[in-house]
Amino acid sequence: MSVATLFRQTSQNLLNLLFPPHCVICSQAATLLCDACLEDFPRVLPPICQICGRPTDGAAVCPSCRQTPPAINGIRSVLMLQNGARQAIHHFKFGNRPSLAAPLASLMADYWTASPLQADLIVSVPLHVARQRERGYNQAHLLACALGQMVGLPLATNTLRRTRRTRVQVGLDATQRHVNVRDAFACQAPVRGEVSGQHRTTIEGRQILLVDDVCTTGATLVACTMALREAGAATVWGFTLAHAR
Ligand SMILES: [Zn+2]
Ligand SMILES: [Zn+2]
Repeated sequence: MSVATLFRQTSQNLLNLLFPPHCVICSQAATLLCDACLEDFPRVLPPICQICGRPTDGAAVCPSCRQTPPAINGIRSVLMLQNGARQAIHHFKFGNRPSLAAPLASLMADYWTASPLQADLIVSVPLHVARQRERGYNQAHLLACALGQMVGLPLATNTLRRTRRTRVQVGLDATQRHVNVRDAFACQAPVRGEVSGQHRTTIEGRQILLVDDVCTTGATLVACTMALREAGAATVWGFTLAHAR
């Protein structure tokens, strides 16, 4: 643990002592996200497209995936990005609330337990270093860490990275999103053992669970999948906390 992380955690614990946390949604319960609010978040319910995971009118595969099958084994999301779920994720990403990772990841762990996906390694969608520096943390990485601990899957480190800073995807249509993130990710070659403190996990032959907070068109997940496949991944399933469509 770095000195900065230790300092952040210590000051957070002190703040919790002085100002006990309250639920970011109902403001009533004395936890950052209470069970009642978590229970209330809108779930992605079947029938869903077996590939992209979007709700369908009953079809096994949605028209979009039938026309152009995405280059990913499939995508599953737990919540619809609506109501309380939207608010909580907003607090998590933009409100400097990294500790929301644990209650939010518990929803992903519950989903996983009920409908496991074929995977033996978790990889999180990386932020560009500059953006991570601004925010102080990568929300996808925090979710992936918590989920990995809950379901007992290892997490890949220092492997997938963003090779360039991309525009914020909000306001872009599906085609623009795909262009925006194309070739924006790459896997660094694996390093055996420790090299200047940086261990990198080998992707070759692994069944990847690619974790992100929100899936909108799937463009980011597909772009990451290309990089993971190039590095030899056997399969890639996208798994996100919420679906925005
Ligand atoms: Zn609450
Ligand atoms: Zn689909």
